[in-house]
Amino acid sequence: MCGSTQFEPFLSCKDYTVSQEVFQLVSCKSCGFKFTNPRPEDAVIGNYYKAESYVSHTNTKKGLINKLYHSVRNYTLKQKVKLINSYVSRGTILDYGCGTGMFLKACVNNGWSGFGMEPDNEAREIAKGNCTNVFSDKSQLLSNISDIKFNAITLWHVLEHVTDMKDTLSFFKNKLCSNGVLIIAVPNHLSYDAKHYQAYWAAYDVPRHIHHFDISSMTALLKNYGFKLIETKGMKFDSFYVSMLSEKYKTGKMNLLRAFYTGLISNLKAKDSTEYSSTIYVFKHQ
Ligand SMILES: [Zn+2]
Repeated sequence: MCGSTQFEPFLSCKDYTVSQEVFQLVSCKSCGFKFTNPRPEDAVIGNYYKAESYVSHTNTKKGLINKLYHSVRNYTLKQKVKLINSYVSRGTILDYGCGTGMFLKACVNNGWSGFGMEPDNEAREIAKGNCTNVFSDKSQLLSNISDIKFNAITLWHVLEHVTDMKDTLSFFKNKLCSNGVLIIAVPNHLSYDAKHYQAYWAAYDVPRHIHHFDISSMTALLKNYGFKLIETKGMKFDSFYVSMLSEKYKTGKMNLLRAFYTGLISNLKAKDSTEYSSTIYVFKHQ
């Protein structure tokens, strides 16, 4: 982020979804940026995504959490399309890390020309059924669409996973139209639910989440690539979903009522502090 190599310990978190291994989060002594350090090598990181319960890569509707996830997703998909339409009147959209392509499908149905990138083979195959232009990485994307610039680029809970941050952000800088919009959603470790659950906070999601952003670090990072922040918005459902998972990690049980209460408090506090459980950032070229 800032070039410093002086880090201090921040938290030790366990991977509750896949490996049960413990990973360290550190904080930069100079700028305070938080990241998972060390992180798995690129060659093995794919192993940490191999879980039936990695819900965003599946369309399974079994179990209460999955049911809730999918019904809330239908509502939030519409809200996401609406947000983009408020900035850009259609055109080409790239959903970077598109998962199973549900968001792209919603965009295409709304008159957008959709493109996707998804490294996970299984998720990508499903995505191709929702949108024809889905590629496995940046170079695939570039060799197929070298002449296209995008009116909108979206990353829904993706940038915290990205291993080649510099290349990725430079790619967006080159591929976004001059009046286009770059929309990034990530968890916020300064939210009330993050502070409440600490190491059990499900959105630390180590080692899949490498970068742990807050509003100031995200704004500073994107500024380095020539982007200016237009607005931030809270993702009000995330506090409930993350609190449910966090309760499960902390106590072994869902504790739905307690999770609901924590999620609600988080949203109420964020009305003033703007520190929602997850934040949507809207960027444009400077
Ligand atoms: Zn730093």
